[in-house]
Amino acid sequence: MKRIAIIGGGIAGLSAAYELEKHRQSGAEIDYILYEASPRLGGVLQTERVEGCLIEAGPDSFLTEKPWASDLCGELGIASEIIGSNDAARKTYILLNNRLIPMPDGLMFLVPTQILPTILSPLFSRSTKFRMAREYFYPPHDVTSPTHGEDETVAALVERHYGREMVERLADPLLSGVYGGEADQLSVRAVLPRFADLEAKYGSLGRAMLAQKKLNQRSPTPPRPIFSSLRDGMSRLVEVLATRVNPGRVRTNIPITEIQRREYGWLVNTAAGGSSFDAVILALPTQAAAQLIRHSAPAVAQELAEIRYSSSITVGLVYDANIQLPEGFGFLVPRTENRRMLACTFVHNKFPHRAPENRTLLRCFLGGSRDEAALSLSTDEILTTVRRELDEILDLTDAPLAARVYKWPSSMAQYSVGHLDRLERIRQLLQETPRLTLAGNGYRGIGVPDCVRTGREAATQMLGYLGFLAETPRIEDPVGTAALGRPALP
Ligand SMILES: Cc1cc2nc3c(=O)[nH]c(=O)nc-3n(C[C@H](O)[C@H](O)[C@H](O)COP(=O)(O)OP(=O)(O)OC[C@H]3O[C@@H](n4cnc5c(N)ncnc54)[C@H](O)[C@@H]3O)c2cc1C
Repeated sequence: MKRIAIIGGGIAGLSAAYELEKHRQSGAEIDYILYEASPRLGGVLQTERVEGCLIEAGPDSFLTEKPWASDLCGELGIASEIIGSNDAARKTYILLNNRLIPMPDGLMFLVPTQILPTILSPLFSRSTKFRMAREYFYPPHDVTSPTHGEDETVAALVERHYGREMVERLADPLLSGVYGGEADQLSVRAVLPRFADLEAKYGSLGRAMLAQKKLNQRSPTPPRPIFSSLRDGMSRLVEVLATRVNPGRVRTNIPITEIQRREYGWLVNTAAGGSSFDAVILALPTQAAAQLIRHSAPAVAQELAEIRYSSSITVGLVYDANIQLPEGFGFLVPRTENRRMLACTFVHNKFPHRAPENRTLLRCFLGGSRDEAALSLSTDEILTTVRRELDEILDLTDAPLAARVYKWPSSMAQYSVGHLDRLERIRQLLQETPRLTLAGNGYRGIGVPDCVRTGREAATQMLGYLGFLAETPRIEDPVGTAALGRPALP
């Protein structure tokens, strides 16, 4: 009997446990234990019902185009509970000089593909519009150039194509919504790999997106909603997963303090003592993983510790339905507006089943890499700030019927320039540290689908090492190309 420890009971750790349990039930002679430091499973996935509304404390959805979360829902028998975003009502605003300006139609992430709405939009100055037009004529990249294939920041790529204004008004707010990060820091190759590839092929991002659009239009399958969620909230996925993992193999309230290498495998230490395992899956934020292997694999630990994280605060606010709001999904706030709020989602518009007829539900975001200090504000201070800013932006003076504040310290991995090179170094170092593998949001995509995928892949990889699969699966771990390609917010 081989023993595997999974450390971390977020969606990545739970997905790993589910995969191991499936193999155990099919006869693999394995035993596994999932250790979770907190009293509850799910990590940042947490749903609360307040005043008849469904408030998501962490993620509210997953990108439909990334199949791993919906595939898992299918396997768990809850595919019929998947709901799509109300894309017909999709309209997102950018706050500019304290006015909400709709993002022009035809914007594919941040690339304009329709001329008229872009020309008419007050979001961009005349000189940016001129650059957008000129961008269509950019030639493909010179693949023989010495800089071809080099990583750079998202800001550098966007600025090269559209100028600084596009970085400040679109790229930066979109990335702070998704990653809590900055366009001036995040790596194109890790965060927007598709853009880097399209640029190399077409030169112009505008032409590339138009080609993509034509392909999509030719596809016989009707367009699917951009975001998917579960009718009863993201916690439902955790709830159902937890029922598929043997409860006798789950230990909550047990923080692991260190793991130590032994001849047979690993000694996993808790405050109460150690247990022996043949293999370990670290399904943790990279900083926490680094801490556990600081003595047994210091070189890997150092690389992991250098992957930075930002913190996030979400605020759920329930109002009476008669408050006046613009239509659409919500708004993003560029840094140049000097506000604490990064974004606000009109949740009742974005998804069905989130608020009853007589309620309106808003979700605001604070924190991010530029405002770690927000984490030290009290709940009252956060609510006062959010209410003041909502009043100034939306003229919303009504008091909410209920409010919830959730703090997620060091929860959003920041893939900075060189991230993929770092992952390659980690991959090589891990070859000298067998029977240890990594899963979670620090590597190949921060979203829920990628975390599901890394958890399941980590489990399969360990089963391969331990000889339970015909051959050890070839997993591009941890260098992948499936990082986030579209914003999840709002
Ligand atoms: C506010 C917010 C909004 C988001 N919105 C979206 C969205 O809309 N769509 C989307 O796809 N993604 C979204 N994300 C990202 C996504 O939710 C996360 O990246 C993903 O859920 C992380 O899962 P995980 O299992 O890797 O990590 P976590 O959820 O962080 O789980 C790690 C677990 O490890 C435990 N742990 C830590 N140290 C130890 C230890 N020493 N011993 C034992 N246990 C330990 C922790 O307690 C935690 O439960 C959002 C994230 C946040 C914070």
